[in-house]
Amino acid sequence: RKCLQRIKKTRHLNAYITVTEELAMKQAQEADDRLLRGKSLGPLDGIPFSVKDNFCTENVATTCASRMLRGYRPPFNATVVQKLLDQGAVLVGKTNLDEFAMGSGSTDGAFGPVRNPWSYAAPYRTLGHGTDPESDWVIAGGSSGGSAAAVASLSSFLALGSDTGGSTRNPGSLCGVVALKPSYGLLSRHGLIPLVNSMDVPGIMSRSVHDAAITLGVLQGQDEKDSTTVQAPHSPTALPQEFDVRDLCVGVPKEYHAPGLSAETLSQWTRVAAMFEGAGARVREVSLPHTQYSIVCYHVLCCCEVASNMARFDGLQYGHRSAVESSTEALYASTRHEGFNDVVRRRVLSGNYFLLKQNYERYFVKAQQIRRLITEDFRRVFSSGVDVLLTPTTLSDAATYSDFIQEDNRTRSAQDDIFTQPVNLAGLPAVTVPACLSGRGLPVSLQLIGRRLQDRKLLAVAHWLE
Ligand code: GLN
Repeated sequence: RKCLQRIKKTRHLNAYITVTEELAMKQAQEADDRLLRGKSLGPLDGIPFSVKDNFCTENVATTCASRMLRGYRPPFNATVVQKLLDQGAVLVGKTNLDEFAMGSGSTDGAFGPVRNPWSYAAPYRTLGHGTDPESDWVIAGGSSGGSAAAVASLSSFLALGSDTGGSTRNPGSLCGVVALKPSYGLLSRHGLIPLVNSMDVPGIMSRSVHDAAITLGVLQGQDEKDSTTVQAPHSPTALPQEFDVRDLCVGVPKEYHAPGLSAETLSQWTRVAAMFEGAGARVREVSLPHTQYSIVCYHVLCCCEVASNMARFDGLQYGHRSAVESSTEALYASTRHEGFNDVVRRRVLSGNYFLLKQNYERYFVKAQQIRRLITEDFRRVFSSGVDVLLTPTTLSDAATYSDFIQEDNRTRSAQDDIFTQPVNLAGLPAVTVPACLSGRGLPVSLQLIGRRLQDRKLLAVAHWLE
């Protein structure tokens, strides 16, 4: 009930697209009954959670923040949603995002932008930025901005995001919550409406690393409905109480000193590296030389997969259908024109261009080769004895909405994914944890990257840091 009240009180954040009040009250009642009968299902029983609106939820509208999916109610739950429900967790709503998860600001959905809850926090308002939160505010990051804002504003204890190039970690970082992108294949993608099948993973946002670890324990593992899933490694679900960092080797990649990195983020990065060192860990500078190519490589591969994935939205099977029905082609064309925003249309066009017979080798194959080199960079560093990498998550704290939507800043905002995308190209786990508040009173977070399928160790280190 408290969470539902918080949702109402924080409506101005635009964090939710659908609130599942009735369903939530029914599930919560069932959880209460179980508790009274001493039959609680475990640590998530009765815990309110929210889900990014690109995960299918049975009989509950699933829009991907697009006009294209207006009125779509899937007949099934995504595997990760079902697993949470099976543990008694209570679904309070579906959260806002960039249309089809394409973006880094949660400013590009059909239901309007998400506002970062920190826009309303006293330090931000009173430090004289000239920003009146009614006319401008700071962005929540994206594309899972609604999920991050929901956790940060205390209307959900947990939220699912999706992470293809940083979409869970970027908003988690800008909203000051814990955000985990698990190893590719550890969590099922069944029921997650695809962006880039070879990089998508469900992400977990929570108020603490401990909560993320519990949730990961519930969600991980093989799923017969997603052939890319793997069996979860055998490791204890609970995080160690005392974690000794003296056996740990922390790598600091020198290429992550990227142009545009704010002085404050850099100083937090240096501070935390020194903290590890002070506690007895070995801290080593390492090199990931192909980092500079990751953004362009990601974009080629992303557009190619988008061109293919978006083909299913033809006005016949799901959601929106145009009234123009003079021919099949005209119906397809006008449905897609009316249904998709310009970000989606641009990616479909670019993807089809990269995939043309005469361009395929030059773009698609080349990008796959570079992807291999980026993956190799990580492999080399980890096999040289490094256990985790410590990096920033974003270049700086959150931008104001008015700055973010400037056309020149659009390209810059793609640069913001520089620290998050390489991890998706390589399929590794990464987690972001809040480090401090900036001079503007906004969260600054750092990222830890782990070896493939060592998600639990990664969380143990994050827990130590928290
Ligand atoms: N910002 C990236 C993009 O626009 C990442 C999105 C994501 O992870 N879903 O594609």
